[in-house]
Amino acid sequence: MRFPSREEVAAVRAKYPAGAKVRLISMQDPQAPPAGTTGTVINTDDIGTVHIAWSNGSTLGIIDGVDRVVRLCPICGEPLTGHPALSRADNTTQICAECGIREALSAAGITGSDQDEIIEAIRNRSVSD
Ligand SMILES: [Zn+2]
Repeated sequence: MRFPSREEVAAVRAKYPAGAKVRLISMQDPQAPPAGTTGTVINTDDIGTVHIAWSNGSTLGIIDGVDRVVRLCPICGEPLTGHPALSRADNTTQICAECGIREALSAAGITGSDQDEIIEAIRNRSVSD
């Protein structure tokens, strides 16, 4: 096994920051939690193993590029795809684009069904582009 460079470990830490929510797709380990299990990133050690507190109690780590997980939006729980937004709550936590729009609309005083209508209009526009 080749150990990752310091830069590669830093990239893995940026991809899976402590506290990030993830869902397991597949893991190359007979002790792996079932696919679909969710967890919270504990930390990434110096050889690039991402340690995760799985919802089933396991703390088995993953190797980026070998095992597969998807990051989840901590607000809505949907997969974080494309370019995530930064939460206005702390300007650090990555959230999905839609939750980012909802935070911005709330900050502008737009709430409830008005927010839903704007989100729906954005979704429809994205599909037709
Ligand atoms: Zn979200």
